[in-house]
Amino acid sequence: VAKNEKLVLQIIEKAERPVSVSDIRADLAVNKTTVYRNIEKLLLQNKIKEVNILPHITHYESADLPHHHHLTCRDCGEVREIETRELEDSMQKLEKKMMRIGFAVEQHNLEFYGLCQDCH
Ligand SMILES: [Zn+2]
Ligand SMILES: [Zn+2]
Repeated sequence: VAKNEKLVLQIIEKAERPVSVSDIRADLAVNKTTVYRNIEKLLLQNKIKEVNILPHITHYESADLPHHHHLTCRDCGEVREIETRELEDSMQKLEKKMMRIGFAVEQHNLEFYGLCQDCH
């Protein structure tokens, strides 16, 4: 495994929130192309996954994390992860309902937007 690829994966795994390419570059002094190339490889190996929480800015997180959703502050842009057990029970019921109408759900994506504690 190339050194940079390992470092990029480490940054993503250690972060407590999804990281963007600029976050990675703030920690690792390499050019954008190198970061994108390493991200591409890690995505292909299913070690990380893409999260689209903000328009036009793709974030990445470890693929090993348990299923969760995000809370994004529309003011400062802070992203927090939230465990949503209550929601998942209802989601399962909904997904069964979709199965009955012939749609095989593979995943769902739900993001929450608002103001964090510091911003309201
Ligand atoms: Zn905020
Ligand atoms: Zn969910």
